[in-house]
Amino acid sequence: MRFKQFLIVVLLSFFSAFYAKAVSILQYHHVSDDTPASTSISVEQFTLHMNYLKQQNYKVLPLNEIVDGLKKGKKFDAKTVAITFDDGYLNVLTNADPILKTNEFPYAIFVAPQEINQGRSNMLSWPQLKSLSEQGVLILNHSLNHDHLNRQLENEDIEAWKARTSEDITTAQRIIDEQLGPQLKYLAYPYGEYNTELLALVKSLDFIAFGQHSGALSKQSNRQALPRFPASGRYANLKTLKVKLQTMAMPIKKLTNDNPQLDQHTQGNPKRPELVVTLDLSDIYKPTLTCYILGEKVDVTWIDKSSFSVASNIDLPAGRSRYNCTAQSRTKSSYYWLSQPWINRNEDGSWPQG
Ligand SMILES: [Zn+2]
Repeated sequence: MRFKQFLIVVLLSFFSAFYAKAVSILQYHHVSDDTPASTSISVEQFTLHMNYLKQQNYKVLPLNEIVDGLKKGKKFDAKTVAITFDDGYLNVLTNADPILKTNEFPYAIFVAPQEINQGRSNMLSWPQLKSLSEQGVLILNHSLNHDHLNRQLENEDIEAWKARTSEDITTAQRIIDEQLGPQLKYLAYPYGEYNTELLALVKSLDFIAFGQHSGALSKQSNRQALPRFPASGRYANLKTLKVKLQTMAMPIKKLTNDNPQLDQHTQGNPKRPELVVTLDLSDIYKPTLTCYILGEKVDVTWIDKSSFSVASNIDLPAGRSRYNCTAQSRTKSSYYWLSQPWINRNEDGSWPQG
C-alpha cells in the first residue's frame, strides 16, 4: 500500500471511529392490528423491525446504558439502539414482549401513573408492570396524568406553573417508586412537548428527559430533550426507518431561537421562527446541508463559516411541527440529522386538542 493510500485509510478510520455514532432510540405506542392507526404498529410490521435489528446485528441496549454511556463519552458500536414504548398499553405485554424476549432485546415503558390507576382494560396494571420490571423492563415516568406539561393554565403565572408541574413529575415518580421500588429518574414528555422553561425545571429536578422529535444521539445531545425516532403510524415503514437508524446526530455547537413553544418567542415572526444553528463542520459536507419544513425543501442562509439560519416560508400550523435538516458526512456514507420541534397555539390563543 502506498503511503498516501495508507494515510487516507488511517484518517478515514480515525474519522469513522470518531463520528460513527449512530446511536438512536425507537419510540412505539401500541403494537396491535386494531388500535388507532396513528399511534400503532401492526404485529407483523413490529416483527419486521425487530428481525431487521437482529439480522443487522444491532446492539439493542437498555435505555440507561445509552444515557450513561453518552455521559461518560463511551464509544458505542456504530449500530446501537434502544427500544421504548409510551403510555403502557396492554398490547405491549401481549404482542411486543414475546417478540422482544425471543430476540433478547431489552426495552423501556413510560407510564402516566394516574392512567394506570384508572385500571382500563387496554392498559397494563401495576402487577403486570411489577412483573415486567422484575424481568428487567425499565418502567419510567410519563408524567402523572399525561398532560401537556409545557402549558400554563389560564391566570397561572410562571412560578405557579413551575410548582404545579414540579409536583406533577415528582408525584408520578413517587407512585412509580412506591409500586415498583426505586426507578430511574427518566421522563418522556407527553406528546413530546416541552419548552425552554420545562427543560430547566426537569433539569433542576435531576431528570433525564426524552422528546418525540427524530434524531440520533451524541454526547452533545441535550439530556433533557433527547430525541427518539417515532416508529409507528406513518413512521412504521421499514425502508425509511432503516435510513433513519443509520443517521448520526448533527454536530451542533450552538442553537439559537430554539424554544419550541412559539408563543414564548419575543423576537422575529413566531409563526415562522428563524432557527440559527452553529455546526462543527469537520465532518460535514457543507453543500449537502438541506432543511425540510412541512415536507418542503427550504433554503438555508449561511451567516458565517459555520452558522446558518433557516425559517419557514409559510406560517407554521397550530399544534406540533418540525424543522428537519440533514447533511452528508465527508467520511462515511451516512447523514447527520437535526430535528427541531415547534408547538403553536390556535389563532384564537387556545391550545389544540391532543
Ligand atoms: Zn404518551
